[in-house]
Amino acid sequence: MSAGPGDLPAHIRARGDLEAGDRKVSYPPAPHPLRVGVYDNHAHLEFADGDNPMDYTEHLDRAGSVGVMGVIQVGTDVETSRWSAALAHREPRVLAAVAIHPNEAPLLHQAGELDDALAVIDELASMPRVVAVGETGLDFFRTPEELQDAQKDAFRAHIEIAKKHGIALQIHDRDAHDQVVEVLLEVGAPEKTVFHCFSGDAELAEVLSAEGWYASFAGTVTFKNSEGLREALKVMPRSQILVETDTPFLTPVPSRGKPNSPYMIPFTVRSMAETLEMDENLLAAQLTNNTIDVYGRFDDQPLGELGSVLRGR
Ligand SMILES: [Zn+2]
Repeated sequence: MSAGPGDLPAHIRARGDLEAGDRKVSYPPAPHPLRVGVYDNHAHLEFADGDNPMDYTEHLDRAGSVGVMGVIQVGTDVETSRWSAALAHREPRVLAAVAIHPNEAPLLHQAGELDDALAVIDELASMPRVVAVGETGLDFFRTPEELQDAQKDAFRAHIEIAKKHGIALQIHDRDAHDQVVEVLLEVGAPEKTVFHCFSGDAELAEVLSAEGWYASFAGTVTFKNSEGLREALKVMPRSQILVETDTPFLTPVPSRGKPNSPYMIPFTVRSMAETLEMDENLLAAQLTNNTIDVYGRFDDQPLGELGSVLRGR
């Protein structure tokens, strides 16, 4: 494990701390390179995973070797959001998203720390190369009913931050489709609203289509039992679809269960192209255009030095 440039650590999270099991798994072989490059719209490069963890430079280098040109690096709490902003600040292949994850926000609320955390997110969201507020949203799979109101309040606050800074929103929606849509319509969605790791069916895809929201497809769309997701993909306008890995999670077929990395995204792009009966290169070009529509170009905001907000206080 090598150190990051300057004061940026190579890893600040270990996947083994999150899950049961020993994660004695290795990175899978790389797919054939894409001929037309794409971006990974959602990844957590701060995680060390498997028996031979890669740091973010290795992730980005391997990604580049198969045509993955860059990554939206996504924070889930104050520490990882600062890290994401700092990485985007110095790494041309990275843009950042910052937020308190919906599973984390109610816990901070209980501890009386949510307002301070949101103030940091607001400050980070004003920085160059921070192009989205996310991941935020609702997760009724992991959050007990008594905390769901606090989760909704935090989601609303994140939406306001995205609108205030005129940047995109990346939504985490787990078992909460109706409520996510309800909150978005109630408070007014940001102009660029993305359902990260889209997990809905054709019916939710119709809603996104009508509202002009984006569906970002992860490795789950390659899974054998994901027929509903593939139906949803077919319903989406091609101008409103994105692709992501959610690294280190959700590794696409044929390497389900192994550590994920942005270099695995060609498997997902090819599976989507097959579902859409579309040429792989045309789909890749469409996905890249869509990423730029939502987040802007990777090279149009300057790299820079760390501000005090990134170092913490
Ligand atoms: Zn994520």
